[in-house]
Amino acid sequence: MSQVTSEAPKPSPRDASQAVIAQQEAMLKALPFADTADFDDALRGFLGTIEHAKIISASGRTVWSLEPYGFLAQAEAPATVNPSLWRQSRLNINHGLFEVVPGVYQVRGLDIANMTLIEGNHGVIVVDTLTSIEGAAAAMKLYFEHCGKKPVAAVIFTHTHTDHWGGALGVLDDATGASGKVPIIAPNFFMEHAVSENIIAGPAMRRRAQYQFGPLLAKGPRGQVDCGLGKSMAAGAVALLRPTDLIIATGDKRVIDGVEFEFQMAPNSEAPAEMHFFIPRYKVLNLAENCTHNFHNLLPFRGADVRDALAWSKYLNQALHMWGGKAEAMCGQHHWPVWGRERIDTMIRQQRDLYKFAHDQTIRLMNHGLTATEIAETIRLPKSLEGAWHTRGYYGHIRHNVKAIYQKYLGWYDANPVNLDPLPPVESGKKYVEYMGGSEAILTRAARDFANGEFRFVAQAVSHLVFAEPDNQAARAMLADTFEQLGYAAESSTWRNAYLFGAQELRQGMPPTPARPLMPRATLAALRTEQLWDVLGVRLNGPKAEGKHIVLNWNFADTGETFVLNLENSALTYTEGVQSETADASFVLARATLDQLIAKQTSFPEAVDAGKIKVAGNPMRLAELMGLMDEFPRMFEIVEPKRTAVA
Ligand SMILES: [Zn+2]
Repeated sequence: MSQVTSEAPKPSPRDASQAVIAQQEAMLKALPFADTADFDDALRGFLGTIEHAKIISASGRTVWSLEPYGFLAQAEAPATVNPSLWRQSRLNINHGLFEVVPGVYQVRGLDIANMTLIEGNHGVIVVDTLTSIEGAAAAMKLYFEHCGKKPVAAVIFTHTHTDHWGGALGVLDDATGASGKVPIIAPNFFMEHAVSENIIAGPAMRRRAQYQFGPLLAKGPRGQVDCGLGKSMAAGAVALLRPTDLIIATGDKRVIDGVEFEFQMAPNSEAPAEMHFFIPRYKVLNLAENCTHNFHNLLPFRGADVRDALAWSKYLNQALHMWGGKAEAMCGQHHWPVWGRERIDTMIRQQRDLYKFAHDQTIRLMNHGLTATEIAETIRLPKSLEGAWHTRGYYGHIRHNVKAIYQKYLGWYDANPVNLDPLPPVESGKKYVEYMGGSEAILTRAARDFANGEFRFVAQAVSHLVFAEPDNQAARAMLADTFEQLGYAAESSTWRNAYLFGAQELRQGMPPTPARPLMPRATLAALRTEQLWDVLGVRLNGPKAEGKHIVLNWNFADTGETFVLNLENSALTYTEGVQSETADASFVLARATLDQLIAKQTSFPEAVDAGKIKVAGNPMRLAELMGLMDEFPRMFEIVEPKRTAVA
């Protein structure tokens, strides 16, 4: 056996191993690649596009471009990409304006999400506005070029995720949006959820999202090929417009520019606030993001609240009973439409059963005593679902979605006390390495298992070594090579991105820190004052705050809100609607001034000098409190030990 530790580093990325090639070949045989209906559907009704779907901002920055994905023109999957994922990646490369039925259009492939355009008696109703203002403006221009310029009669946000509302100002300008003349229709509790999902845990989520979507990976057959739902995350400017009309209940109707819409509420499904609708005039059904051409995520890798698979399935069943047999076209806010009553009903039924099966079988196995890892290893979709392309786990995957279901009901603990208080990775890594006979012994065995395609265990074993000896280049190279093979084999785009980005960071270290995105003022303004205090609370450095007691009164003259902010026991709490008579300091200001302070558009002394903040008591106590706040790093180690100690 070779001395692995002394080998020179191999060029990267590397070829697919024999084990992966065999797995890809088996996949080609197992799945119905002869069924190419999706390719016809993804191109049906094509009216025109922008070359390479390239969108450039006013400052010359590329907001979106599919040019780097030219390699997907090749029909046959290379050995380094799972053929099922390759197929999905090729479907997601289509871009442009498409007719769904006369009067209903979609812009697809100019963003990860779709824009749907529905013609009314005089104007057009725009459903979802993509991630960026630039993208939305480009989509509207493309539509007007092909279908004629007409006024925007209304905007509908189907749900609370940014890729569905971020570009609203590209559809309505600031003035039109603010005037409220063009209705903005959204599901109930839209504002409460549109920004809150990513606020408290935002810094951790943004770093983890790099592993989910792979934006810092090179695009190519050995790099990022897709995100499952679409190609990638869009860059560009984002702004949140406040809805003017909320849909409250299933069965609610609106007549918009002469067109009747029937709505169905689907809260706590793919998003905390989400809704579906049917348009009788066009016989078009839109199930937002709950019935897409993949198994969606019950818990994305970036981290989120666990989604409710049971509720999700029930909404699809309800949609089937409300509109099954009526719809002649079904489109969602990702992927391509489906036409024909029978095919639509079949797809909704299969998606309904996909979420129900995953939910019920997870709970069944859980109640037999299996842990999340054991359930993931055991569960298999029924044959009747497995062969339907839209049930494949390109974004979510049965093997991690079942863990999300387990987490929803039972949480992180598997009830085995060994997992109650384990040593953390560095400390346990060192002991594992010692018990396993040292790094050479581990790498020798790892090389043997690698050759046999036992990548999952090699990754587990060598990860201990990397945590014990982060500067051991042979260990890093072995783990990187192993992650890479796991990435090449993965059917899920999110698994592929996670493994390949892990490999890249082991080989090259963390990429240069990208600029910290400033929170857009519109987003900041949309946050309730309590949420701002909550964000401040999680920045408080507990050990530094030991023994401090600070009490501050806040009075927001414009909103009429008052708060007492209280630091004691290293915890920052607040009470609304009161003022403390013994506060260290009191501040009277507008909420907008607080937003400017947070956005660093002004400083506290500047605002005081400008008369924007009135102070009583000792303002230095606020400075003292702010001195106890942590700044979060934009990057932190994930596949190796933290280089900076955190306390
Ligand atoms: Zn989306």
